Amino acid sequence: MAQNCLEIKNLKMYFPVGGGLFRRSKKFIKAVDDVSFDIKENKVLGLVGESGCGKTTVGRTIVRIYNPSSGSIEYTKADGSKVDIAKLQHKKMHPYHKEIRMVFQDPFGSLNPRIPVKEVIAEPIVIHKMLARSEIENRVAELMQDVGLDPDYMNRYPHEFSGGQRHRIGIARALASNPRLIVADEPVSALDVSVQAQVLNLLETLRDEKGLTFLFVAHDISVVEHISDDIAVMYVGRIVEQAETEELLYHPLHPYTEALVSAIPVINSDKSKNRIRLEGDVPNPVDAPPGCVFHPRCRYAGPECSVSVPELREAGPGHQVACHNYDKITLRGI
Ligand code: SF4
Repeated sequence: MAQNCLEIKNLKMYFPVGGGLFRRSKKFIKAVDDVSFDIKENKVLGLVGESGCGKTTVGRTIVRIYNPSSGSIEYTKADGSKVDIAKLQHKKMHPYHKEIRMVFQDPFGSLNPRIPVKEVIAEPIVIHKMLARSEIENRVAELMQDVGLDPDYMNRYPHEFSGGQRHRIGIARALASNPRLIVADEPVSALDVSVQAQVLNLLETLRDEKGLTFLFVAHDISVVEHISDDIAVMYVGRIVEQAETEELLYHPLHPYTEALVSAIPVINSDKSKNRIRLEGDVPNPVDAPPGCVFHPRCRYAGPECSVSVPELREAGPGHQVACHNYDKITLRGI
């Protein structure tokens, strides 16, 4: 059985609000609040939820753009030994920045417009001193081919490429340091559906050919369903359900997952009639409601739901849910 590439335990990322030079902040945005999950080697975990639910913060904390408030991020190195990267000082993160790479949502914003694509892609190779100068151009050509770009265009600038091609440049750059784990943050959300499919197919091929492990962050469950082995659903900083993809889509146990799944388009079906439209907005994580944070929007809420917080617990083999009533209600899958 494959071992875990990443084990996240009780991860918290709180951001102070207000306060000032001489005043400590008393309130916090609990962007990530006690999140735990594992990703097995060579597998894809899809992390989904509405915008502002904390999924991007999870990704950014894993690559240590943010310093976690508490919790552990245990990464299994190629030799099988483990390191808790949540505890490492920034200087000590250097080798892991090579092995754990992020693909950003907005490739245009993340690519320096003033340097040619050749240098954009080569940057991680140079930073990590991986190759001699004379070898870099060949490696860039190889990486461009891997992601379906013509190496003849390596001297062009990012603005000379289409949106889909810029995503491919971002992926080639992430691959340049031979990573083992990729955190892909909404990597296709800005693309047309047809281009989305091409980029998703590319990521899947790279996973298979290079043995990569992925955390795939997306707001749209229909984007992650085809590529993910497992899906974790987040709501206001917490994971509310996690299971193997098919199990989660066909047998959701959390009312929020049921609503997300009901929005998945099904060809030749009049499913739009059955779409569950949630009332109200996602609560502000600074002032989240007591008890189950989903209770103001939940049509199955009972009296206990506004009082006690449901813990994430095992509801079946490999299927975890945080709901007081999961065993009393029958929910609809796809
Ligand atoms: Fe709904 Fe209650 Fe379950 Fe929360 S705990 S999802 S409010 S039924």
